[in-house]
Amino acid sequence: MDLGIRGRRALVCAGSKGLGRGCAEALAEAGCDLVLNARGAEALETAARDIAGRHGVRVVPVAADITDTDGRAKVLAAAGAIDILVTNAGGPPPGLWTDWSREDFLRAIDANMLTPIALMQALVPAMAARGWGRVVNITSQAVRAPIPVLGLSNTARAGLTGFVAGMARQVAGQGVAVNNLLPGIHATDRAVALDAGVARAENIGPEEAAARRAKTIPAGRYGTAAEFGAMCAFLCSRHAGFIVGQNILLDGGATNLTM
Ligand code: NAP
Repeated sequence: MDLGIRGRRALVCAGSKGLGRGCAEALAEAGCDLVLNARGAEALETAARDIAGRHGVRVVPVAADITDTDGRAKVLAAAGAIDILVTNAGGPPPGLWTDWSREDFLRAIDANMLTPIALMQALVPAMAARGWGRVVNITSQAVRAPIPVLGLSNTARAGLTGFVAGMARQVAGQGVAVNNLLPGIHATDRAVALDAGVARAENIGPEEAAARRAKTIPAGRYGTAAEFGAMCAFLCSRHAGFIVGQNILLDGGATNLTM
């Protein structure tokens, strides 16, 4: 299927690895030029070169912490006019609900709620003025069903979801489609870190922790960044303009819901 976005300019945040990288690859395959962000310059520059070489598009790497005001300003200045925004950042650490201080909550809310909101506030008005735009926020399955050890994520991402539910409907009439993608477990560095935490807590090996987790998923495995990226690219495509304010779960059936 031709996604109809060849030549569009996309900003993919936190995209040198993992799910963000999957989105960047799929958008580049669809012919988008990219502004690609992550903190670590070396991995980012390698990713930018690889993607540009593989797909024949322009990829501008911007090394910065997207959750930091100055870092975000650097990314936005390099980005200029953007048609497609994929918001993403690292997830908050696991723990018990009694563990977290006010500062921990503020950090999580800053990274996983206020950062994507600030990026949308910066970029969506110009998309609306041009009459076309797409935003995909990478959130989590924790929005549909809480993950007990990820209380900071449950909290911050629920706030973002509420914001998007309202604003997506305010910009849909100007050709901007804003949606959220909710990953369940995917085989990325984040999953490796989460499995290492389970392995430590349960005194088992990380492979055993991953195998046990995979057994709880109806699909029987972890998702891949490529699968995730393909859905992201579709939501950014010209075919997706009637999909507005949705929360799309990619979890291999792990969240036990009727709807
Ligand atoms: P990942 O494999 O750890 O990759 C994270 C990517 O984001 C890397 O490129 C990293 O590069 C970049 N990054 C992290 N923090 C950043 C920051 N502050 N500013 C700019 N770039 C940053 O993570 P992932 O698995 O792709 O997860 C992406 C998001 O989805 C996270 O919020 C995670 O909590 C959520 N999620 C993941 C899963 C899963 O199973 N993987 C499930 C549910 C939710 P640098 O370190 O160089 O900055």
